[in-house]
Amino acid sequence: MKKSITPGQIRAGNRQLIYSYIYSHPAVSQQDLAYQLRLSRPTVSSSLAEMEELGMIEKSGQVSSEFVGRKAAAYSIINTYRIAVGVHIHAHHITLSAVNLYGEIIENDHRDLDFINDETCAERICDCVKDFIASTGYPDERILGVSIVLPGLVSPDGTLVTYGKILDCTGLKIEAFSRHLKWHCRFIHDASSAALSELWNSDRYPDSIYLMLSNHFGAAAIVGGKILYGRHGHAATYEHIRLQKTGGETCYCGRKGCAETLLSVQSLLKGFPEDLDTFFANVRAGKKEEAKRWKKYLEDLAHMIRIIHLSTDTDYFLSGDLAPYITQMDVKLLYKLIEGSIPFPEENDYLHVGSMPVSGISIGGALIMVKNFLNHAM
Ligand SMILES: [Zn+2]
Repeated sequence: MKKSITPGQIRAGNRQLIYSYIYSHPAVSQQDLAYQLRLSRPTVSSSLAEMEELGMIEKSGQVSSEFVGRKAAAYSIINTYRIAVGVHIHAHHITLSAVNLYGEIIENDHRDLDFINDETCAERICDCVKDFIASTGYPDERILGVSIVLPGLVSPDGTLVTYGKILDCTGLKIEAFSRHLKWHCRFIHDASSAALSELWNSDRYPDSIYLMLSNHFGAAAIVGGKILYGRHGHAATYEHIRLQKTGGETCYCGRKGCAETLLSVQSLLKGFPEDLDTFFANVRAGKKEEAKRWKKYLEDLAHMIRIIHLSTDTDYFLSGDLAPYITQMDVKLLYKLIEGSIPFPEENDYLHVGSMPVSGISIGGALIMVKNFLNHAM
């Protein structure tokens, strides 16, 4: 059967094109839109009227146009036309974030809650989500959806936790949440969420590896600006690469000597009663035990990066809870340690210390909803 594009599909395509252009070029005139997108003035004019009517865009002052002698109306998107929500589930609390279409934070919150993989707990989390959304003051129809972010592998469609040993929730289905919420829900792996948050404001690293150096060690691979899930959903699970050939601590996966047992914050602080602030104050003050432990940590981290660098040769983000404590001297030492076993000469330009905010993981969950909206929702 011969396929043809309907006038409705053409209109929707043009509207998507125009909306995307306004999104990335705020305060643009109708004339400039027509010229830049090679569309007719009536096409642009009717799309603008339609989107203005829907509350997606607004006139935001006037602008000098290259193509008319006088000032023309400037159009921008309404950044709260849709709001996205991310919920990060930890063992003993949850963090919630709401962002607008530019990924700017509207509200953050934190609730104490002990996670148990059962129906009552899912319902309690959903009650917190409903309260949180109500507190933003935005009506239900503006909410794009809710990302449930957790330390576990999830299916690429975000509907199932395929491996959730940390929270003991393997097999958890998204219906446990979506049956209590009126919005679209999906799961997202915490390291992937953190990577999206870190890279949201930068187009410079469309291909990169994100290392989450937090209470648990995790990673995400970003390829062409998108999360690489892999054929079986476990791409970039470097935390289970066996860094110690013999012996080692037992990982939560049941095997010994995994990177998790050397590169998580809990392994770094094992045997030290202090928190990260005190630990690093002692490291920088030259206290012997702490300095020795930190040097060993950097050696193990260099070992890890060396392994993945040989196969990926890309940019690496050192992020998560440890990022604020990593100095340029530490990075210099990492380059030196990695360099020693890489056979090729190369620039020391591939390690980047992350700058994600503390609530970045729940924000990343919300950002994936925003990305989907911007790419597909018109
Ligand atoms: Zn493991």
